Amino acid sequence: MTKQRQTIWNIICTASGHLTAEEIYALAKQELPQIAMGTVYRNLGLMVESGQILRIVCAGQPDHYEKNVRPHEHFTCAQCGALVDVELPGLGQYLQSQSGHPVLSYQLSVQSVCPACQKAQLGGKTI
Ligand SMILES: [Zn+2]
Ligand SMILES: [Zn+2]
Repeated sequence: MTKQRQTIWNIICTASGHLTAEEIYALAKQELPQIAMGTVYRNLGLMVESGQILRIVCAGQPDHYEKNVRPHEHFTCAQCGALVDVELPGLGQYLQSQSGHPVLSYQLSVQSVCPACQKAQLGGKTI
């Protein structure tokens, strides 16, 4: 593994959630001031291809990257734009059985409110 890729991997591993390439680039630059945006994109692409990380494509948002490679969906927070992990096992099968058509892939676009914003709305009260 190259030093650049090791740095990018460390950044994604220490992040609690989902990072855009821009965010990864900004963090990588702190460690490797010479690193170029193209290098970050190239390494992210290779890591996605090898199954090391996941790329999340969301309409109206830049791509995000994360280390959780288990199949899961993302709800978008309508207030702060955060991505919330949601596991919906069997959704692909459900779509296929309900529609009667083979499902090759699908992209879910769900607007929601993330836990942090829910909490803020309630003024810190627990539900
Ligand atoms: Zn939010
Ligand atoms: Zn996720």
